[in-house]
Amino acid sequence: MRSLVEQKVSCPYCGESIEILIDQEEAGEQYIEDCQVCCRPITLQVLLDVEGHLIVSAHDENESI
Ligand SMILES: [Zn+2]
Repeated sequence: MRSLVEQKVSCPYCGESIEILIDQEEAGEQYIEDCQVCCRPITLQVLLDVEGHLIVSAHDENESI
């Protein structure tokens, strides 16, 4: 079953917290989403924590993960 989870991340450029919707099937993937505030591309990495909860880390696009 697919479920969308709302997560908040801080933009690595402007520091604003933005809300994103992620899909459990995206765990382990990374993708780019433009910041809703400054419109710069944020690299989002979707991970699962030890309890199976989705977590998202945000990086600027030039930062190596
Ligand atoms: Zn921003």
